[in-house]
Amino acid sequence: MLKQQPNQTELHAWDKNHVWHAFTQMAEYEPLLIERGEGVYLFDTEGNRYIDGSSSMWCNVHGHRHPRLDAAITNQLAKVAHTTNLGLSNPTTVRLAQRLADITPNGLEKVFFSSDGSSATEAALKIAFQYWHQSEREGANPSAQPTSHRTKFVALGESYHGDTLGAIGVGGVDRFTSIFSPLTFKAIRVPTPGMTPTLSPTADGGPRTDPSSRRTTAAEALAYLEQLFRNEGNDIAALIMEPLIQAAGGILVHPPGFLKAVRALTRRYDILLILDEIAVGFGRTGTMFACQQEDVSPDILCLGKGLTAGYLPMAATITTEKIWESFLGCHKDGRAFYHGHTFGGNPLAAAVALESLNIFQEEQLLDYLPERIAQLQRYVKKIAELPHVGDTRQCGLVAGIDLVANKQTGDAYPWEDAMGTRVCLAARQHGALLRQLGDTVVIMPPLCIRSSELADLLHAAESAIREITDVAVSVPSGNLLA
Ligand SMILES: *Cc1c(COP(=O)(O)O)cnc(C)c1O
Repeated sequence: MLKQQPNQTELHAWDKNHVWHAFTQMAEYEPLLIERGEGVYLFDTEGNRYIDGSSSMWCNVHGHRHPRLDAAITNQLAKVAHTTNLGLSNPTTVRLAQRLADITPNGLEKVFFSSDGSSATEAALKIAFQYWHQSEREGANPSAQPTSHRTKFVALGESYHGDTLGAIGVGGVDRFTSIFSPLTFKAIRVPTPGMTPTLSPTADGGPRTDPSSRRTTAAEALAYLEQLFRNEGNDIAALIMEPLIQAAGGILVHPPGFLKAVRALTRRYDILLILDEIAVGFGRTGTMFACQQEDVSPDILCLGKGLTAGYLPMAATITTEKIWESFLGCHKDGRAFYHGHTFGGNPLAAAVALESLNIFQEEQLLDYLPERIAQLQRYVKKIAELPHVGDTRQCGLVAGIDLVANKQTGDAYPWEDAMGTRVCLAARQHGALLRQLGDTVVIMPPLCIRSSELADLLHAAESAIREITDVAVSVPSGNLLA
């Protein structure tokens, strides 16, 4: 006999008992089960409707249940769901690779597919390392010990490149990663412009400054970088960074020109530049790729999240002809990239990624964005005036709103008050799903959001902030978290 469908209570219980949620304190977790989506809206099992204010973790682009994206997947499904990309290929994935080479900045030609962003950055680090190894041992015995001295990587403070061990080695969000520091290799960290340097006091060799000191300017960050390159450039394989916006670090927006200046330094000192556009790629900042705003083409580009419009897991690491060539040789040279993921280049994911690019092109989505971006900018300026909102940052269709205990001094709320979490939970009552980064409320809706929907989303965020920051003095936080 068929078991009856589980009821709501059972589903909630199973969720709490058996699903270990990412970045979530499971002792405090309260289930919310999203059953379906439509455009920018998500519906829970009780029929409540929410605007998807974080694009389902920064990856949805054209909305949910987009008819063309749905059809692209079913059409591919009628052919084949998955074939390996180890030593063979399929037409859909090949077409996607060609399209990506076409639309990414000049010089990026060779696409290595994987299944998630962390894998894409891991691959980038390994490709960069192996590139130098092979470039610096021309003609050497392939089985010999590595001769490259270029073993170091440079990354920005507060950067985020994924959660696997290699990725957290170059990541700088210490509250996520410091516990694992004995297990990771240590990137050299450089200050993030616009940030007060609070780089890890323990794990890295980076600058350590009194946390109360003033913010680093772009010029200071660049001077620091140049000094580092001058002193240790011959040991450095690559610099990895998120261009324009360091997303998971708290929506930290770089000053205009910073990326271009970093690119110039990496060229001058012959250091590879890896750009991680996993969060900012595919239109988030207003251009297809963030680096195009500063006319920068990296040596290695990492894509994920929005690559499939947020439909299926897929990521890509795209490199230049020059890097690729260093991997060519006979079998006995051992120069292949011995790295791969079972589902890398999955045809279903490739099919939906291709169709997403078609939609970008045919609906001229990027042409409509400036208006929506201006609307976001105006509303965020208004929210910035609230008594418990400190700094706000916005770039493209992405904004970060800092909640502060004291607007005048900029003093933060105590960590244990979990104000960011409480605001985002309260926003649900106003019909919006938001996700916080500490006490920063993040606004990152799907690019297809209409003007009225964006107004509703921002109104929900504002209402939740007002509610929680006003009651904060009188209601103990436990009540709201429970
Ligand atoms: C999300 C993210 C990653 C990691 O991607 P996953 O698919 O979660 O592994 C890497 N870099 C940046 C900038 C990201 O935002």
